[in-house]
Amino acid sequence: MTAAPAVVQVALPCPLDKLFDYLAPAGATVPPVGVRVRVPFGARRTLVGVVAGRVPASQLPPQRLKRIAAVLDAEPLWSDELFGLLRWAADYYHHPLGEVVATALPTLLRQGRPAQVAGVSQWYVTADGRGASTGALGRAPLRHRLLEALRAAPDGLSEVELRTLSPNWPAAMRALREKGWAQDRARNCLEPASVAALPGPALSTAQQAALDAILGAAAGYHCHVLHGVTGSGKTEVYLRVIEQVLARGEQALVLVPEIGLTPQLVSRFRARFPVPIAVLHSGLTDQERLCAWLAAREGHAPIVLGTRSAVFAPFRRLGVIVVDEEHDASYKQQEGFRYSARDLTVARAARERIPVVLGSATPALETLKNARDGAYALIELPDRAGAAALPVVRLLDMRRLKPADGLSAPLREALAQRLARAEQSLLFLNRRGFAPVWMCHDCGWVAACRRCDARLVLHEGSRQLRCHHCGAEEPLAPRCPSCSGNALRPLGEGTERVESALQRLFPEARIERIDRDSTRRKGTLEEKLARAERGEADILVGTQMLAKGHDFPNVTLVGVVNADQGLYSADFRAPERLIQQILQVAGRAGRADKPGEVLIQTWHPQHPLFAALQHHNFHEFADFALAERQAAALPPYSHLALLRAESTRSGEALRFLQAARACAPPGAQGLQLFDPVASPMERRAGRHRAQLLIQAGQRRPLHAFLRDWLPEVGALPLAKRVRWSLDVDPIDLF
Ligand code: ADP
Ligand code: ZN
Ligand code: ZN
Repeated sequence: MTAAPAVVQVALPCPLDKLFDYLAPAGATVPPVGVRVRVPFGARRTLVGVVAGRVPASQLPPQRLKRIAAVLDAEPLWSDELFGLLRWAADYYHHPLGEVVATALPTLLRQGRPAQVAGVSQWYVTADGRGASTGALGRAPLRHRLLEALRAAPDGLSEVELRTLSPNWPAAMRALREKGWAQDRARNCLEPASVAALPGPALSTAQQAALDAILGAAAGYHCHVLHGVTGSGKTEVYLRVIEQVLARGEQALVLVPEIGLTPQLVSRFRARFPVPIAVLHSGLTDQERLCAWLAAREGHAPIVLGTRSAVFAPFRRLGVIVVDEEHDASYKQQEGFRYSARDLTVARAARERIPVVLGSATPALETLKNARDGAYALIELPDRAGAAALPVVRLLDMRRLKPADGLSAPLREALAQRLARAEQSLLFLNRRGFAPVWMCHDCGWVAACRRCDARLVLHEGSRQLRCHHCGAEEPLAPRCPSCSGNALRPLGEGTERVESALQRLFPEARIERIDRDSTRRKGTLEEKLARAERGEADILVGTQMLAKGHDFPNVTLVGVVNADQGLYSADFRAPERLIQQILQVAGRAGRADKPGEVLIQTWHPQHPLFAALQHHNFHEFADFALAERQAAALPPYSHLALLRAESTRSGEALRFLQAARACAPPGAQGLQLFDPVASPMERRAGRHRAQLLIQAGQRRPLHAFLRDWLPEVGALPLAKRVRWSLDVDPIDLF
């Protein structure tokens, strides 16, 4: 008698939340869990999936069972712990395992390429190319630009960087190479190791205590919340923890927010550790990403620095995870597989039985509550490191002050003083563009997006109106489209307008604007930041891009132009985000020997948030914010899931959610299904949007309910006509 053929369950990248049965390849051993396979799918497609299990028999009739076409890996790509985490995440976020696995894989592996590195090439100018007269290049502007860029890049240029110069770079490069002016070298994706590692400063008492608490804890999983004001030396503590972990022969994973992975941070790590450092972020080529991923997996990279998706990187011997700015919203993936990388690091650390450090000056209220409840250990760094003192925070009561272009007289005077003393100032304003409203003063017409329920923002530099939600652009019409009058005026202010007001007020000042518009071209942000650091800018104006991770020792004034967006917003998290942002920017003032000052313009100076800011006391804010959340049964005192739907046909998304609500099984006690409602921004990019909120006192009944309910939702006839998705622990209710 022959044994029944083994049935292999494969996770495939497709929206169906199930595993697919296949027969093991003929004559071969059954591939183990965690190995990639290529399988036939549908009529003539093939897909790359990952083996997720094995069953004695399939539910499918034998004649419909297909065979695995190829086994792509000799051994599993993940450890049992890490594959277990992926399964757990698929369960927790109610998302198909196949898509979770695809998110966790570098693109090339997802496409079925071998798990090996081919090397990454980097282009350099040759000595000939450096000295050559460019006349010989003739009238080929791209070749000129390429040569110029190579000459300006001592470390060479990667293919990603070249592509941003022009998609047609390969042809121009070929011409340069034929002349012997450029060459490429295979380069390892790992950041070059520094030769002489520099020692760090002597730790303060608080830093030493933090280090002892983290390293002194018994082996195994611990979650430490490192709460310290900006500049209190948290990064120094991470570095010391990592030093010990490396000394034990283990690896470290450091997660940073998207915008936090600055060259400054990378070079700080490089200066400290004489080891290769792999960097994982969205700007890499597919080759570079695969190279870094494999370097982590094979243990060649003792340190991995990465953004959100690096939480899934495999390691040979992971010893610690650090999450910097753990409160940052960029840790939450906002589309497709909507996971929180911060939360997954905690789940991962628990599975791998290692410590995790969540660092922030302004921990998320969820994190802080866990710490206060004793689930996480709270470590405080109350003072700034070294000689720096905390800046003085003053409120400017805008009810009494008349601003011009958004700037009140005391703020203008403070700027003038800094200019006179040759110190730097930083103005923060969370709105790019010139003005958020373009309005007719005769008839009241306001420019609105045709595809969104949103106003168009005036961008004066490009003489355009732009929608910040869908990207739509319109030229500025000279006359009002409604009354044909010529009384069109900007209302309110964005970074462009503040910049031009500053230019008028202080014609001598060197002003640097830093926002998404002014830093679109690759490398501009770095250039601008470098100029600011070298003291070549007097006033920095910008959005939250300015707030994170940069050290400007000569900034002694921080002005918050408008603090009030967020105080009374419909989003219950808005005040939390506001204080996080203000404390972040305020942290840029007076880092070295010169004391700093923070001026906040507000129409609501009596708001308790500002008292907490003035006392530099995040706990004071957390006390009342948590009390409010508790009173309203909002997270972290309850758990949320949001079912979202959108459709190009008006009313359809809402009808779908009504049908979804109607087919809900009876929920457990303490579980509440709210009525479906139109989203706060009902129309976006031409789609009508609606949402249904589910709230529960406990996680377990919430997940049990979702498990029962979602298959019913997916089976609704309307489910095929709308786009819908579930967001577990949503952080954005819009
Ligand atoms: P954070 O990460 O909390 O913002 P950092 O670790 O970046 O703080 O420290 C802020 C500044 O203080 C840095 O310039 C750092 O080099 C310096 N610093 C940190 N720890 C010490 C220390 N123990 N003694 C002197 N300077 C320190
Ligand atoms: Zn008009
Ligand atoms: Zn729009």
